[in-house]
Order: sequence, then structure tokens, then C-alpha cells
Amino acid sequence: MMKAALQQLASTLDGELHFDTAMRTLYATDASAYREMPLAVAIPASENDIRKLILFAHTHKTSLIPRTAGTSLAGQVVGNGIVVDVSRKFTSILELNEKEKWVRVQPGVIRDELNQFLKPHGLFFGPETSTANRAMIGGMVGNNSCGSNSVVYRSTREHLLEVRAFLSDGSEAIFKALTLDEFHQKCEGDSLEARVYQTTRKLLSNYENQEEIRKQFPKKTVERRNTGYAVDLLVETAPFTAGGEDFNFCSLIAGSEGTLAFLTEIKLNVVPLPPKETGLLCIHFNSIDESLRANLIALQFNISASELIDHYILECTKNNIEQQKNRFLFRAIQGYSGG
Ligand SMILES: Cc1cc2nc3c(=O)[nH]c(=O)nc-3n(C[C@H](O)[C@H](O)[C@H](O)COP(=O)(O)OP(=O)(O)OC[C@H]3O[C@@H](n4cnc5c(N)ncnc54)[C@H](O)[C@@H]3O)c2cc1C
Repeated sequence: MMKAALQQLASTLDGELHFDTAMRTLYATDASAYREMPLAVAIPASENDIRKLILFAHTHKTSLIPRTAGTSLAGQVVGNGIVVDVSRKFTSILELNEKEKWVRVQPGVIRDELNQFLKPHGLFFGPETSTANRAMIGGMVGNNSCGSNSVVYRSTREHLLEVRAFLSDGSEAIFKALTLDEFHQKCEGDSLEARVYQTTRKLLSNYENQEEIRKQFPKKTVERRNTGYAVDLLVETAPFTAGGEDFNFCSLIAGSEGTLAFLTEIKLNVVPLPPKETGLLCIHFNSIDESLRANLIALQFNISASELIDHYILECTKNNIEQQKNRFLFRAIQGYSGG
């Protein structure tokens, strides 16, 4: 019965819908160790396709798994619903505003390619990942990605200004910073979007909830954390905390791993390119503990990035043709027995 329904859905899409074993097997995993056969794999060609997929999932009580490059390490794009791959057709950079320093993109834009586009304008998108030459902006938002330069540029969340997205009933919403008045206006009405705002207002206005959230969430000083939905950040905004920043659901969407809304457009803050002159210091340590302690010292010198390359990664270079030429550096490490 489901097969007939999928066939019917396929016939209405501009893009592709696959439910053969080969395609489902290809999409049964990401860069993690997890594996689960999806019901189907969709490659939507239009926003209308995404809306149709959402309505199908709603009617047939299955889930959608938005996917970009699939480089997640914890099974974020693995599941038994329909994997929706937006890496093929949603790859446009839609608008750049140099004066206000923002760029609007579709989710399938690769992070490094965005920066190649921005370079002639003297701008770039700061947050990075080790996979930046393939990781896409949709996935970076989903995982709230950041990398070795997070000490300066922080994470994707801090640069996410606005998103356009589909909600679970197929309706469309724009999430962005709202003044207090705008926030309360958003709570008016009976649309799903309005109900999301109403529920949030009710839950976060409750003093006991606020206290519990403040008590239970990890310290804010720990920047690189992605432990569930960032409701602790919403509590600190103007509707709930006097003098707080404007309310913006983007804080919650960043790091929500595709579970809250299906993003179709993403507006990002961009920053001036860093100076060309940079220095690199490679320090060798005898233990991880020693290196972590040294990092605390390095942080006192306003460094722009800090990265640990551990014994396992050095070992992986042994049989890697590309990295063979760099191994002289490792051999120079006193006491390193990697060969
Ligand atoms: C070797 C290696 C090193 C890595 N190093 C880092 C690192 O330094 N820092 C880091 O943060 N991560 C790292 N990662 C993890 C991963 O590469 C990054 O998090 C990356 O940004 C994910 O991007 P992606 O395009 O592959 O996303 P995907 O894996 O395709 O998706 C990531 C999440 O985003 C959601 N998503 C994607 N598109 C949409 C959409 N349109 N709407 C709603 N949700 C969407 C997905 O559902 C999923 O939950 C590493 C991974 C590997 C394999």
C-alpha cells in the first residue's frame, strides 16, 4: 500500500523519488557508524516538491530527513523516513548585501564555495568545519557547526540571521529577530506558526521553567556545545528577560538537526576577510592532557585558531599517498613511534 502511495507521490513531483533498494542503501548512512534503511529517497527540484513531501509525510505518518552533504558524525541524516537530499538542486547563492554584510543562500551551498564567491568582495562566512570543502550551509545550520577558528568566529548560530522554512503542516514561515511588539504580534492567530510562538511564550514566561532551564543547561561559557535545543538562549531574550536581545527562533533552529523545520533559504552574517599574514605554530606534546593545558596558555595570546591533531590521525597518514610527503614533520617528533 505504501509503495502505491510512493508511486503516486513520485508522479506528482518535479524532482525524483527513489524507493529501490540500491538508492535506499546508498542513503542508509552518513559519515557515522549508524545505518538504517530509509523508506525512500527524494531529490526535490522545487520548493513545491518539498511542500508535497511534507504533506505526504503528515498524511502517511512518516518522517522527513533533510540532508545536504551527509557528513554528520552522529547519524543526523540516518532514519527510516524519507531522506530528502537538497544538495543537488538547492545550491544557489541568492543575494549578497555588501553594505549590510549578509548573504542569502539555499541550503545546498557548500561552505568553501560560498567563501570563494565572497572573496572578491573582501568578505567571508566565518564558521568552518574540517569538512568545509563539502559541508553545506543547511547542514552547518542543522549541526550548529564550527571548527578550529571558533575562538574568533564562534559557531554558525551566531551568524544565522534569518531562515525561510516549511513547518510540519506544509505552511511557510520566516524566522528572524523580532522586536517585543513584533514578537507579541506573531503570537496572534491560529496558524501553526502562531501556535509555536504562543507555546514558547507560555513555557518561557513561567518563572519556574526559566529557573530550571538556567540551572540545568550547560554553562554559557562553554561555547562549543550542542546539547539539545538551545532554549536556554531564548530565555535570555527580551520577552523573558528585561534588557535581553531581540527574540529570534534562529537560535533554536541552529543545532536542531532538521527536526523543527525544513529550511529553504538561509540568511547569514558575513565578516571582513582576515588579514593575509598568518602564522602557524606546531607544538608537539607527549600526552593529550599536556596539549589541553597548553591550549589554555595559547588562548591568552588572541589566537585565531587552535587544533589538536592526535596520535590516531597521525597514524592514518601512514598509508595515505597524499599525506606521505608531510610525514617528515611527524618523524621529527621526538619519541613518536608511528614509523
Ligand atoms: C572527518 C570529519 C570532521 C568533522 N569535523 C567537524 C568540525 O570540525 N566541526 C563540526 O561542526 N562538524 C564536523 N563534522 C561534522 C559535519 O561534517 C559538519 O557538522 C557539517 O557541517 C555537516 O554538514 P552536511 O552538509 O554534511 O550536513 P548533513 O550531515 O547532511 O546534515 C546535518 C544536519 O542538518 C540538517 N539539515 C540539512 N539540510 C537541512 C535543511 N534544508 N533544513 C533543515 N535541516 C537540514 C540534517 O537533517 C542534519 O540533521 C565532521 C565530520 C567529519 C566526517
